[in-house]
Amino acid sequence: MSKGTINVSVDNIFPLIKKFLYSDHEIFLRELISNATDATLKMKHLANIGEAEGVEYGNPMIEVKLDKKKKELRIIDQGIGMTKEEVEKYINEIAFSGAEEFIEKYKDKNGKDAGIIGHFGLGFYSAFMVAKKVEIITKSYKDEPAVHWSCDGSPEFTIEKADKKERGTEIILHIADDSTEFLEESRIRELLVKYNKFMPIPIKFGTRTETLPKPEDAKEDDKAPTKEVDNIINNPNPAWTKQPTELEDKDYNSFYRELYPMQFEEPLFHIHLNVDYPFNLTGILYFPKMTNDMSIQKDKIQLYQNQVFVTDNVEGIVPEFLTMLRGVIDSPDIPLNVSRSYLQTDGAVKKISSYITRKVADKLKSLFNNDRDGFEKKWNDIKIVIEYGMLTEDKFFEKAQDFALYPTVDDKYFTFSEFKEKIKDVQTDKDDNLVLLYASNKEEQHSYIEAAKEKGYEVLLLDSPIVAHLLQKVESKEEKISFVRVDSDHVENLIKKDDAQISKLSDKEKETLKTFLDGVIPKEKFSVQLEALDSNANPFIITEPEFMRRMKDMQKTGGGGMFGMGGLPEMYNLIVNTNHQLVSEILNTKTDKKKERLVNQALDLARLSKNLLKGEELTAFIKRSYEMIK
Ligand code: ADP
Repeated sequence: MSKGTINVSVDNIFPLIKKFLYSDHEIFLRELISNATDATLKMKHLANIGEAEGVEYGNPMIEVKLDKKKKELRIIDQGIGMTKEEVEKYINEIAFSGAEEFIEKYKDKNGKDAGIIGHFGLGFYSAFMVAKKVEIITKSYKDEPAVHWSCDGSPEFTIEKADKKERGTEIILHIADDSTEFLEESRIRELLVKYNKFMPIPIKFGTRTETLPKPEDAKEDDKAPTKEVDNIINNPNPAWTKQPTELEDKDYNSFYRELYPMQFEEPLFHIHLNVDYPFNLTGILYFPKMTNDMSIQKDKIQLYQNQVFVTDNVEGIVPEFLTMLRGVIDSPDIPLNVSRSYLQTDGAVKKISSYITRKVADKLKSLFNNDRDGFEKKWNDIKIVIEYGMLTEDKFFEKAQDFALYPTVDDKYFTFSEFKEKIKDVQTDKDDNLVLLYASNKEEQHSYIEAAKEKGYEVLLLDSPIVAHLLQKVESKEEKISFVRVDSDHVENLIKKDDAQISKLSDKEKETLKTFLDGVIPKEKFSVQLEALDSNANPFIITEPEFMRRMKDMQKTGGGGMFGMGGLPEMYNLIVNTNHQLVSEILNTKTDKKKERLVNQALDLARLSKNLLKGEELTAFIKRSYEMIK
């Protein structure tokens, strides 16, 4: 046996390892299994190129073994193993200096960057985050004796010959007293499933009982025979590592269930990512059915590096609007040992992000072109992603012109240019502006929608929470168009065709009426406007100007913050139709008290039809109405 001292400047590196990586202790297992996988794949490579004469590659696996009584966790591989010289070089020198460098680099960083740094593997020495003593028993594929290395966490180690006969490496962790959670079978299983579910070499953890088919001559109550088989916890060949041509829709769907076992709904469609130049990236993204709540749908995409799970926070790597999708991306080219803010400016990462955006846009376009009906049916379940993407990514906005849909209240779907073409004759106003009418809620805006349809107008149904922002953007990109919500004005005024208005009232009468109304109607809530409308149109109509309402909507969903933090005031227009019989009656009523009653009653009816009459005011209205019909 020989002893040695590991040559490091820090006296004792292990307390440091523990301290700086406190939150991420669990990654040790991923690191050790990654090493075991690398060693196995190297063996495969050597066997393939004929470097390792007389060595049988076979069907190697990695075994994870737990002995709770002895407080031991073992990771055993059948990879290339190490000779004594290699242990000295790779474990004592290289691995150690790597660990030291790591600590030096990151000891001043904590807090906000810690997340991603934790994903940066510390390699072999991360074992000391959970073990008080680590042993390596390894036999190289070369014809040399096996080696036994042991270290108790101080820079001193021992190294001696071992009698291991079969090729490969066994790492023995003597779990520390503060880390006994890693002696629980359920905890280890959880980690294996989290980090190693798709690693390329089969990983065995214990055994499981498999039921075999009954023999033909078995009696009915005979129990089916069983057999103990290796419990392999991973799928070494996940769908994203295969070529799209090898896979059918059902394979993609079953992989989706493998990724999200608790998810019972099928995905709507998938996008297979596969590039190797100028960066290497594979993956499969799924569009699930989406609701209008954006925040709950994030953090479902998993990021892998060479089939090793890294994180499910892909912010900065995948464009934000696509973080609502599900699936996996796998790329060895994504730097992980850097902060999120750095990621956003990194050239390679930017390229990856725009590649993903482009692939998603291409897929949507081909779905639209190949099966428009099917695409229309899916629209409401996916629109939030597309609309959010159009809002936040200019490139996507442009591409989306080919497939973004604008549904009408009658469930007809148009692209933007189709819709413009369809309405241009009827909905162009006197100043040559094309007015696109829309509703956000079919029930609440029912009377306005009907009035608009009666005039031969098409009404869109745009109900996403971010629609106000998106319309703002579309208006700024297009010439001479404006979106107007159906309830933002009286139907006659939505699309102004000419100025001529013939009023039944004289200018003098109008002035008297206006003065009276201004005295009765609360100024801080309504701005009174007299208009000569059709005599069949309602006498009092409440509208909320498009601009004000849109600003309010935008404030609700963030952004648009031109009004600072304060909420916008509730302000409506009260349009008084001077051609209506009731308005003439108000004007001609003798006593001010009676006049006032008529005005209040008419105002309340207008508020009622806009869903604005509530509480005490509603009670007063009902009381007044009964008195009037008494
Ligand atoms: P990294 O894996 O990043 O190189 P590690 O500290 O994890 O750093 O490991 C250092 C070196 O030790 C590896 O590069 C490899 O040569 C060797 N090594 C570690 N684990 C094994 C193993 N299970 N089998 C063979 N060699 C190993």
